[in-house]
Amino acid sequence: MMTAIDLDDSSAAARLVEEPVLRLARVERRYTEGDHDLEVLRGADLEIRAGEIVALVAPSGAGKSTLLHLAGLLEQSDGGEIYLGGVATSTMNDAERTRLRRLEIGFVYQFHHLLPEFTALENVMLPQMIRGLGRKEAVKRAEQLLAYMRLEERMHHLPSEMSGGEQQRVAIARAVANVPRLILADEPTGNLDPKTAHYVFDALQALVRSSGLAAVIATHNMDIADRMDRRITLSEGKIVEL
Ligand code: ADP
Repeated sequence: MMTAIDLDDSSAAARLVEEPVLRLARVERRYTEGDHDLEVLRGADLEIRAGEIVALVAPSGAGKSTLLHLAGLLEQSDGGEIYLGGVATSTMNDAERTRLRRLEIGFVYQFHHLLPEFTALENVMLPQMIRGLGRKEAVKRAEQLLAYMRLEERMHHLPSEMSGGEQQRVAIARAVANVPRLILADEPTGNLDPKTAHYVFDALQALVRSSGLAAVIATHNMDIADRMDRRITLSEGKIVEL
């Protein structure tokens, strides 16, 4: 069993406030395709609270990536409002959105996107150092997170020297390195065999639980979706609980 670790952070108290970590209110998103608009989101509503892990399950093309990009402030919506920790984001400028994204959100993708020329430890240290943490503290936290991910023996390996499951666990450690409030994951286990997928999900779940994060995880794996707190899908541009 993994033991809980103290992700000692002064904002922990702030996480106890009642506001959902993520709230979507009547969110709209459309893309122009040739001479017509493709309405991907048509008034999507969603609330996710600290400690909740939500599975996003929908067929290809339904709008999962669009939803994750909007929630992650990587794209602007065409209507409605996205609140992070109760703060409305639609009127923010690019710099404010980038700052909030760096502080509050960790991303995990289907392919790990680790930097190939850096070790596991360095990959987890880098976002912290970019944020301004000293090298010593960044090493300490990276070691702690990688140990939590059961990667003690792999800290000084390059991504190419690790298995797919190990690479994804490093990517998860990196995503939470800056103590975000929200994890957004797009098919994080989609590239792994079923046993490894469950192992990686176990690690992600333990981390989310121990640190009071909120997570939205897009997946096609129904066994893994069944292990989350809630399951949502997209139907005609709206979010529906399953
Ligand atoms: P999913 O992640 O569920 O597969 P996406 O969010 O990637 O779905 O896409 C939803 C729909 O929006 C698809 O029909 C896709 O082709 C379209 N789409 C996504 N991004 C763009 C874009 N930048 N320009 C035009 N159409 C897009």
